[in-house]
Amino acid sequence: MNTFFFSRKILNWYNINKRDLPWRNTRNPYYIWISEVVLQQTRVDQGKQYYLKFIDSFPDISNLATASEDEVLKLWQGLGYYSRARNLHRGAKQIIEQHKGIFPDKYSELLKISGIGPYTAAAIASIAFNNTVAAIDGNVYRVLSRVFEVNDAIDSGAGKKTFEKLANKLIDKNEPGNYNQALMELGALICKPHNPDCKNCPLQNNCLAYKNKTINTLPVKSKKTLIRHRYFYYLIINYEECVYVKQRTENDIWKKLYDFPLIESTKDLPANAITQSADWINIFGQSPATLNHISELVNHQLTHQKIYARFIHLTIKNEKYLPANFIKINKRDIFGLAVPKIIENYLTKVSFAE
Ligand code: SF4
Repeated sequence: MNTFFFSRKILNWYNINKRDLPWRNTRNPYYIWISEVVLQQTRVDQGKQYYLKFIDSFPDISNLATASEDEVLKLWQGLGYYSRARNLHRGAKQIIEQHKGIFPDKYSELLKISGIGPYTAAAIASIAFNNTVAAIDGNVYRVLSRVFEVNDAIDSGAGKKTFEKLANKLIDKNEPGNYNQALMELGALICKPHNPDCKNCPLQNNCLAYKNKTINTLPVKSKKTLIRHRYFYYLIINYEECVYVKQRTENDIWKKLYDFPLIESTKDLPANAITQSADWINIFGQSPATLNHISELVNHQLTHQKIYARFIHLTIKNEKYLPANFIKINKRDIFGLAVPKIIENYLTKVSFAE
């Protein structure tokens, strides 16, 4: 298909059908950056709330750069993929320090900012600064693979190159920002992963997958995602009016968020296996704990992991021998900390600290 007709068809469709979203009324690169990062792996209706909350709290880049990391994470709480928030924060500081607070206006310069990868750099560069560079997200891979019946795996290096070449050949030179958004919008609203709405698709007459009935086989992926199952036994250690929390510092899920001290296993354990484990003895060997209650198993699905958790309520009489990295806080203060969603949900359910 002629590239001019391809982009024209998509842009015409977009002008009539695009959703009215807050970041579509601006060319401010900071706002576009926030919206792009918030929307990664997030539904638009949920992302919209977080976007509005975020720019309300940090209306410009210097507000974000001077905030504390805890403040940024607290605002991000519940959205998941917390590295996105930490990278935004780092990136904002970098723009203040290295670019005097002025957003770089070239794709290649944007790529040098912490946490800005090819997709986000292309989105900001094209929408805010009219750079002719294709932004390729999952929606774009899907639409292009189907229209042009590309069988290269989208998660392989060679496949990525094929799509990058194709996408940059098709991009509209006059309206690259609108074109990128239009293609993504078409993927989100019409060319969906399952049951695409082909009868309302502006590309139907040109779509090879539609013609050859190969829609359900595209896009191709080479790797199967393995889900890791993890069991967390959270210890809610009560001492007078206080409980203990830990900040997650390892390179693991929820880094820099706070949670309760925990014992982890690869399978569900009975109570006696927990209280006889080496981890338990390490914590309570010298300051015995009274076990008050163990919750039902609750679970939380992440992209590549499934977390199962039980909350074990305990009381101790002597805090002297608890590990030094346990942080003692008043029970009520936990609501001011950024905690994983699974903890937030549990605390709300049991009316914690009331
Ligand atoms: S015709 Fe169907 S499969 Fe092809 S691009 Fe449109 S929605 Fe997707």
